[in-house]
Amino acid sequence: MTRPPISFEFFPSKTPEGTDKLRNTRRQLAQFKPEFFSVTFGAGGTTQDGTRNAVFEIQSEGHQAAPHLSCIGSTRATIAELLTSYREHGIRRIVALRGDIPSGMVDVGEFRYANELVAFIREQHGDWFHIEVAAYPEYHPQAQSAEADLRAFVGKVNAGADAAITQYFFNADAYFRFVDEVQSRGVTIPIVPGIMPIQNFSQLSRFSDMCGAEIPRWLKLRLASFGDDSASIRAFGLDFVTELSDRVLSQGAPGLHFYTLNAAGAVSTICQRLGF
Ligand SMILES: Cc1cc2nc3c(=O)[nH]c(=O)nc-3n(C[C@H](O)[C@H](O)[C@H](O)COP(=O)(O)OP(=O)(O)OC[C@H]3O[C@@H](n4cnc5c(N)ncnc54)[C@H](O)[C@@H]3O)c2cc1C
Repeated sequence: MTRPPISFEFFPSKTPEGTDKLRNTRRQLAQFKPEFFSVTFGAGGTTQDGTRNAVFEIQSEGHQAAPHLSCIGSTRATIAELLTSYREHGIRRIVALRGDIPSGMVDVGEFRYANELVAFIREQHGDWFHIEVAAYPEYHPQAQSAEADLRAFVGKVNAGADAAITQYFFNADAYFRFVDEVQSRGVTIPIVPGIMPIQNFSQLSRFSDMCGAEIPRWLKLRLASFGDDSASIRAFGLDFVTELSDRVLSQGAPGLHFYTLNAAGAVSTICQRLGF
């Protein structure tokens, strides 16, 4: 059986030490032969140079790099310029997002939603870019309703997305239900589960509250019961996330996208345990 495609996500570092650490992380993860490495983008372009430099470096090392591109607060001209520069550097894949609206932002710019960015990329560059969009198996936290969010997702796909990466989840059923729902509405693109390793419980709880990813009650209580014993949290997290990854793959997920948080350790262990 051929191994499913995998990809790894980083955020751009802000310091020279962070950049070195990231290089090292990338070197370790390259052994798993990912389809691509992606690099996040701060809403409103706050990490634009960091994202650009990181993807160009990844590309120059001979890997496929995919910049994330969030459109909120941007003009068509700035997005067009960035796309042209990516194309000139041989980038073929973009993760196209609306981005989180920074608090206090008054001018949301010339794009309101990700579907408008996807349509713009297609309009400007035809099929040059392979476009990935975000999917939310437990629904986006600002969605007016589950139904509205499903419709918005289908809208992004119809605007020209080639594939989707999900927000992380710990309920595999939410993922399968989401896939069934959108497939019944005509979506045929691959919807790749985003996999988040469990390393630090309080950080994960805070983050999950913000992005609307549910930590099931049993899992929350189990993790809380380890208290400050971070080694036990990590060991339990590795078992749980490996099992979750194995389950989604064995039930038909087309690949895995790992949120690495710029560290190779947990993700490498999960990949090794999965036999990659
Ligand atoms: C894989 C992945 C990678 C990410 N990378 C980054 C990153 O690099 N940088 C970053 O800032 N954030 C990133 N995010 C977070 C993301 O930017 C936020 O979740 C953001 O709030 C929504 O972005 P989106 O592209 O999903 O938006 P959209 O698809 O535009 O959806 C946003 C909200 O608007 C609603 N909506 C969408 N279209 C319409 C419409 N036409 N009419 C009415 N309502 C609509 C949706 O239901 C949803 O509630 C990432 C998320 C994922 C899952």
